[in-house]
Amino acid sequence: MTTANLLDFDLDGLAAFCERLGEKRFRATQLFRWIHQRGASDFAQMTDLAKSLREKLAGNARVEGLPVLTQQESADGTIKWLFDVGDGNAVEAVFIPEDDRGTLCVSSQAGCAVGCRFCSTGHQGFSRNLSTGEIVAQLWFAEHFLRKHLKREERVISNVVMMGMGEPLQNYAALVPALRTMLDDNAYGLSRRRVTVSTSGVVPMIDRLGADCPVALAVSLHAPNDGLRDDLVPLNRKYPLAELLDACQRYLAHAPRDFITFEYCMLDGVNDQPEHARQLIELVRAQGISCKFNLIPFNPFPASGLLRSPQPRVLAFAKLLSEAGIVTTVRKTRGDDIDAACGQLAGDVKDRTNAARRMAERRTVVLHPARKKAASTVQEQ
Ligand code: SAH
Ligand code: SF4
Repeated sequence: MTTANLLDFDLDGLAAFCERLGEKRFRATQLFRWIHQRGASDFAQMTDLAKSLREKLAGNARVEGLPVLTQQESADGTIKWLFDVGDGNAVEAVFIPEDDRGTLCVSSQAGCAVGCRFCSTGHQGFSRNLSTGEIVAQLWFAEHFLRKHLKREERVISNVVMMGMGEPLQNYAALVPALRTMLDDNAYGLSRRRVTVSTSGVVPMIDRLGADCPVALAVSLHAPNDGLRDDLVPLNRKYPLAELLDACQRYLAHAPRDFITFEYCMLDGVNDQPEHARQLIELVRAQGISCKFNLIPFNPFPASGLLRSPQPRVLAFAKLLSEAGIVTTVRKTRGDDIDAACGQLAGDVKDRTNAARRMAERRTVVLHPARKKAASTVQEQ
């Protein structure tokens, strides 16, 4: 008999499962706390649950994380894990510590079907969706590992960004219960403002997310017009910029933050010219959308045939946006000694040693319109 993996359930799902076992719903809350707040996987340990329930659980359920294939720690404290999801597939999660927070970058799929030109995950193609349990297992493992590793009693991970492998909004059914578990006070208790879904622009699912589980939204824009975006982010052919920006505008009515973050990967000679910045300014002005830009220096890999924009060009681009009144940040690389990067992660266990050079990043340079000068404040995501 196969048992249910309890990492697959948000609290409502766990309550329904408990009811199926003939147990009261409130038992689910206790169980949920044991699993997520205390990191327990052995029912025998859960001493405040009735013995009869523990026995039922032992026969019908399990709490099963993902096997860790490798763990690498960077000199700057960034830690990357490669998790085995079976059939030769692996997904990565990256922990990025900062003074005021700890961010975990989480994967939603093994591979990705969107196929963006500048993304090594996209170049690998799509293997499969992760289950809710496989998404949550990344946080469950990382949080409880880090508490021990850093000898901390209290929570270590304060922010989650769905910026690992995969397009989260193409795995919507598994994503939403995972997000609910991250937000639940009986589990990780993360604030909606500190859980970010990053999407290449799956328009109908942006609307559904706004209705079902509004969290912070980052949209991977990368181009100021449809011609160029069609080429860089093939999903644009299905959901062009005007529709995408309309969806962003609608999302703002539900969003926990009063702006959308636009991510823009800076590609040498492709999308980094002053003309592109002017088009972007026009685009967001025409829409009147409240947004921030995050410029990402491209992490090159040979198969892409693309190069990173030189830093002065990135800064000049940021200055143009900033002078037009758009808050713009430039990401600084993190963890480059361990090839750890959100959105740049290896999917195939066999190929992982050949994976493109990758870096985890955080934003540090903030060009604030009010100051019109580069300042080095860390901007919250
Ligand atoms: N599929 C989602 C989330 C995962 S990608 C999305 O596309 O938004 C997370 C981020 O990493 C995206 O903004 C993506 O554009 C960026 N990214 C992908 N490849 C990159 C590369 N080679 N260098 C820098 N950033 C990259
Ligand atoms: Fe998929 Fe995001 Fe990579 Fe595009 S950038 S291929 S959507 S993971």
